[in-house]
Amino acid sequence: MNFFSKLRLFTLFIFLFFQGSFASAWGFFGHQKISRLAVFLLPPEMITFYKTHIQYITENAVNPDKRRYVMAQEAPRHYLDLDIYGEEAIDSLPRYWKSALEKYTEDTLMAYGIVPWQIQFTKYQLTKAFENQDLENILKLSVDLGHYIGDGNVPLHTTSNYNGQLTGQHGIHGLWESRLPELFSENYDFFFERRAEYEENTQLRAWKALRIANQALDSVFRFEREVTEQLGERKYGFGLRNGFTLRVYSQNFCEKYHQKLNGQVERQMRHSIKMIADFWFTCWVDAGQPDLAILLDRKMSEEERQKLLSEEQETLKKAPQIAPQRPHEN
Ligand SMILES: [Zn+2]
Repeated sequence: MNFFSKLRLFTLFIFLFFQGSFASAWGFFGHQKISRLAVFLLPPEMITFYKTHIQYITENAVNPDKRRYVMAQEAPRHYLDLDIYGEEAIDSLPRYWKSALEKYTEDTLMAYGIVPWQIQFTKYQLTKAFENQDLENILKLSVDLGHYIGDGNVPLHTTSNYNGQLTGQHGIHGLWESRLPELFSENYDFFFERRAEYEENTQLRAWKALRIANQALDSVFRFEREVTEQLGERKYGFGLRNGFTLRVYSQNFCEKYHQKLNGQVERQMRHSIKMIADFWFTCWVDAGQPDLAILLDRKMSEEERQKLLSEEQETLKKAPQIAPQRPHEN
């Protein structure tokens, strides 16, 4: 093999290493699992409707991540870099969007992410969709709301060091939210004693979730460093992805890291699931508890179903090469 062939192979390797660890928040797998499980916590008046549409809800759980490639304003909806606003940001940032706009410019807010406010905004939209008995939007917005709530519960979505790029821990994003759930969530306990409950103040609940996620960050970074020191070269192994051999975090590394995290990923997944169910339920109650059986009777025509399902494909097809404002992939 001549030098240039080697160089090409090496370049391909590097490219695939980063591509291979591409991850949206919670990864495809995690988002799907979270949204799906939330359906089963709904009360009898809602569960039949959501179960009927569970395939749509599951398959489209990462739609909002795909939209980042076509809509510049989409990217900031998935995170909030709390550290940018100082150490006490979780307490000092204005709770409501209107007050946030009085304190900071919209450009600043958009630059560092808006996830807690976006959760509240989507909550209003979903409530409206229930009020209007608007089947398509109930489904779309349930998916969106579930996604943003899922993101808000991911510790690495609350910091500007979102992929360990500032601390030499590059790749930690995909590790925590994709690789670990893929490897270990089979054994997580997803039994819930309490079903969906009404949330008096959804905006404050979003901030509470963000606080918990942010408090978990210290362990996310510290344990990665500790296991890295412990394993040295054995940090990485090789895995097969799309027919290519790639360098990935070794199974041994993942197991040790996961053990140190002591249930953290499971806890954050559980928080997400319960919070999504609570929010869907709250939207429905705030909309006056519309009879969803009527919507089921009015089943979507095949045409409507296709339109809804193909939205995702259309979005991707149209995608110009606009880079998202701040990619969350590795
Ligand atoms: Zn996302």
